[in-house]
Amino acid sequence: MKVLVPVKRVLDYNLKVRVKPDGSGVDLSNLKMSINPFCEIAVEEAVRMKEGGGGHAKGAASEVVAVSIGPDQAQETLRNALAIGADRGILVKADGEVEPLAVAKLLKAVVEAEKPDLVILGKQAIDDDSNQTGQMLAALLDWPQATFASKIVLGEGKATVTREVDGGLQTVDVQLPAIITTDLRLNEPRYASLPNIMKAKKKPIDAKTPADLGVDTAPRLKVVKTAEPPKRQGGVKVKTAAEAVAKLKEAGVI
Ligand code: AMP
Repeated sequence: MKVLVPVKRVLDYNLKVRVKPDGSGVDLSNLKMSINPFCEIAVEEAVRMKEGGGGHAKGAASEVVAVSIGPDQAQETLRNALAIGADRGILVKADGEVEPLAVAKLLKAVVEAEKPDLVILGKQAIDDDSNQTGQMLAALLDWPQATFASKIVLGEGKATVTREVDGGLQTVDVQLPAIITTDLRLNEPRYASLPNIMKAKKKPIDAKTPADLGVDTAPRLKVVKTAEPPKRQGGVKVKTAAEAVAKLKEAGVI
């Protein structure tokens, strides 16, 4: 079984986002970029399917291919996936923001060329918080999808996926080939070891362009404004419960 894992390069989750003074977007200059955390979970799961672990039999996956759409530096993101254990990478070179629909169209073209049995994506990218790409890819391919996976059990030609939904867990069966998107509790990604980081440098990365894949990535959305969240107001101390109730009423909470 071949597994394709799309990985996005995003601003490191530890860093605070800085909005550009003109509100046209966020300022990413000189900031550390990393693999999107949900994508890292997706790579870890795919590698466990290959190596065994996390409930998967060794060899359940025969090959794990990571793909990233982004600038040249997205190669680092691919190297990160290769250091976790992916076998090879595909970089679709695109500068500037590529919207989820265009990403899904590019991934569809990669899927048609690579013919994986399973595509595991993150449930969302922490920069745009779109939570759209997996669903759009499933629609474009007309494949079944199981989103927000917290557990994946592979069976004969199918996957049984436990999904985190409001107030509980839902378990669904999807026939392969299928799309799965990862939730936070699916697994805890490993720290790549130094030997594996070194090995990853030698693994192949194939480069493509959107034109090679026949996809127009021109944006369809216009960002009107980007703003920081309003600053939190300082709290007030109250002496009695009655005063607390009055304050809550004043604020319209009760
Ligand atoms: P989003 O729909 O933008 O929240 O992203 C959801 C998931 O789609 C991510 O976790 C990735 O697995 C995949 N994805 C989104 N953008 C890209 C990209 N530029 N390159 C590779 N994968 C991506």
